[in-house]
Amino acid sequence: MATSKTPRIILHPGRDASLRRQHPWLFSGAIAKIEGAASPGDLVSVHTADAELLGYGHYTTGSIAVKMLSFGDTSFSELDYVRQSLQQAWARRRGLGLLGNSETNGFRLVHAEGDALPGLVVDVFASTYVLQFQSRGMLRLREAIVASLKDICGDALACIYQKSFELSEEKKEIPGEYLFGQPGERRFLENGLSFNVDWEHGQKTGFFLDQRDSRALLKKYAKGRSLLNCFSYTGGFSVAALAGGATAVLSVDSSVSALRLCEENVALNFPKAQHHCVEADCLQYLHNIEPKYDLIVLDPPAFIKHRGAFKGGLKGYETINHLAMKQALPHTLLFTFSCSQLLSRDDFQDLLARSAMRAGRSARVLHYLRQAPCHPVSLQHPESEYLKGFVLEIL
Ligand code: SAH
Repeated sequence: MATSKTPRIILHPGRDASLRRQHPWLFSGAIAKIEGAASPGDLVSVHTADAELLGYGHYTTGSIAVKMLSFGDTSFSELDYVRQSLQQAWARRRGLGLLGNSETNGFRLVHAEGDALPGLVVDVFASTYVLQFQSRGMLRLREAIVASLKDICGDALACIYQKSFELSEEKKEIPGEYLFGQPGERRFLENGLSFNVDWEHGQKTGFFLDQRDSRALLKKYAKGRSLLNCFSYTGGFSVAALAGGATAVLSVDSSVSALRLCEENVALNFPKAQHHCVEADCLQYLHNIEPKYDLIVLDPPAFIKHRGAFKGGLKGYETINHLAMKQALPHTLLFTFSCSQLLSRDDFQDLLARSAMRAGRSARVLHYLRQAPCHPVSLQHPESEYLKGFVLEIL
């Protein structure tokens, strides 16, 4: 609960515009002074230079100094806010048809700013809920979050796991742990297909749930095609292609443990499939591929993690796209993605045009792809749209 002791952040004159538009990030350069002692993770109130209350948020010491929770509310209660936002996130997933769904029981329940809970991600795998805390403020509210989730989700929730992570503002490693229940089955369903997931050791929460709709689209086009799945991770696109009738699938990734799980997931669904795995750096591997694929997926990790990495990242995207296009059979469908928040869709499309020119190929856009809707984007925070994709026909 905000009280008279809540530290107050006072902005420089004229630096209130983005908060008036309800953008949830306050950058440190906008702050004139802090009244009261504010430590990372504390609830703070934010005021204009004339002391008008703009809202409440979680303080950190990074360049994003405050992640805003509420705007203009004078009697703000942090615990009520978290509980209500979790309730809304749950209702949103119900509206999306994701609760009690017999085909899909893996989805994102909380997408940070997209669900008005900056600093918190919750991914659901059947009855296990995997939490990622991205701010000290949300970590401080951990017990309240667990209690609210248990109330709201009822029998649908049997186990809560907190991923290990490093708080970016403090470079401090927080170990992973079970906050409620014990791990049971590590299997979940996506579009009727079964996947094993290792949330303890896997990347991010263990599975990339943001690609669910793009995998369903790939399945639709896979019949009779031969897939090269680059950056396959645990085989989400590989299994979808086999479900759609792909004749052969090659999964390439640099992580041996991901490929082990990829093979397991293929065997779980299609024990007799024509599927092979290659452990390789895709940036190298693509230099030597044969022209025998007519369905290609490029779903790399974020090559542009910060502004300083922009130029190098662009080069990485251009290299993989140009090499894939060069060797693609005529009329290949290329599913190509960028999950770099800093790369806009327009810039990515320009880059693809350059890649096609360099490969001596022409290409048509058939689909514009994005993250699945259980990763909603707040209109006030366009940055939460991080995943951009295209389905190109390579001529
Ligand atoms: N398409 C996947 C998600 C990809 S995540 C899915 O549907 O689940 C990115 C993957 O790229 C990770 O599995 C990571 O191990 C892998 N990776 C990162 N750098 C790589 C590189 N240079 N070459 C090959 N794989 C790489």
